[in-house]
Amino acid sequence: MLDFQQQAKELDEADPLRAFRERFLAPDDSDVVAYLDGNSLGRPARETAERMDEFVRGPWARRLIRGWTDEWLDWPLTVGDRIGRVALGAGPGQVVVADSTTVLLYKLARAAVAARPGRREVVLDTDNFPTDRYVLEGIAAERDLVLRWIETDPEAGITAEQVAEAVGPDTALVVFSHVAYRSGYLADGAAVTRVAHDAGALVLWDLCHSVGSVPVRLDDWEADFAVSCTYKYLNGGPGSPAFGYVSRRHLDGLRQPIWGWMGRRDAFTMGPGYEPAEGVRRVLSGTPPILAMLPLLTGLDMLESAGIDAVRAKSAELTDYALRLADEWLLPHGVTLGSPRAAERRGSHVTLRRADFGELIDPLWQRGVIPDFRAPDGIRIGLAPLSTSFSEVYRGMSVLAELVHAQTPAG
Ligand SMILES: *Cc1c(COP(=O)(O)O)cnc(C)c1O
Repeated sequence: MLDFQQQAKELDEADPLRAFRERFLAPDDSDVVAYLDGNSLGRPARETAERMDEFVRGPWARRLIRGWTDEWLDWPLTVGDRIGRVALGAGPGQVVVADSTTVLLYKLARAAVAARPGRREVVLDTDNFPTDRYVLEGIAAERDLVLRWIETDPEAGITAEQVAEAVGPDTALVVFSHVAYRSGYLADGAAVTRVAHDAGALVLWDLCHSVGSVPVRLDDWEADFAVSCTYKYLNGGPGSPAFGYVSRRHLDGLRQPIWGWMGRRDAFTMGPGYEPAEGVRRVLSGTPPILAMLPLLTGLDMLESAGIDAVRAKSAELTDYALRLADEWLLPHGVTLGSPRAAERRGSHVTLRRADFGELIDPLWQRGVIPDFRAPDGIRIGLAPLSTSFSEVYRGMSVLAELVHAQTPAG
């Protein structure tokens, strides 16, 4: 008889990252039994609450407008460099914090297609995140481009072979998620980038589900562009700003479409006409969201001290453990796995599917078990490595199993 609860206890005791759990706020009177959605909104760190309070009373209250020239004007670049070093395998001067993922995706995808004049196609896949699909549809309409769709197997993801077949002499840009938001499929960043480059196309990676959960090596892959949010595995908080990566190979000629004062050379001369600033600063448009970057600083501190390789190792163990529970408790009851079985092709979440799973989310949330639902039929079990224990996975999955066993499958 497998004792999964005992296993969870042993895995928690052996977990080299277990001390990080104490660094997150978990109010005593909270109704949460298992938080399985740190891949959508990371938990707040204790230090974040203090950091925000200190910032308001300190630099904001005391330095006032002088704070901008003290250092805030440089935060998009200095914090960007830090994200690059800690999470992206990106050297300095290529990452900038700004806007939202959606807006940065627009700016960088527009810059990318402008850098490939004469090429009329953008390649993407049907399981790309909705905002990516819509933004690219908008750009295609605006620039008279053609979108070439790769049909993704919803339980797998994008392979270099599929991309090689889709790209050609007319491809300007390819856009994919490194970790797919539904299946959690982890694409081969280096191989996909290589086949796109072989066709002369540029590559833009969406890293929302990768950053802070799997190693990313943008410089080694020779990636061209990337975007991501910071409120998932980086614990930046609801609506925290995004970041964009532009390979230094492309910085000189880069033209993004939103010409704001903060992206202009010598912004404070306030002179006539727009000229892009030097370097990655030209990706900026308006005033940087300083307050909204504070929680991210704590997220980066934690990720840096844990190390992305240790985070990845725990993530693989967490998803393995969740799969063992699913195999025993759920798959015999009409539930199917909507994620790759191979750990090396899986990010930090696992999707489980059954036709009636949409009806299970309310009762789960009512019982304090918080995964999320992704249409049409997937419950996503997100396992943020720094804040999730194996016992928490056990608790959440046992409630899910109870509900599944109580309900006859709808088909
Ligand atoms: C969460 C997520 C986004 C979010 O974009 P916003 O502009 O922050 O709303 C984009 N892409 C992917 C793949 C995501 O998972």
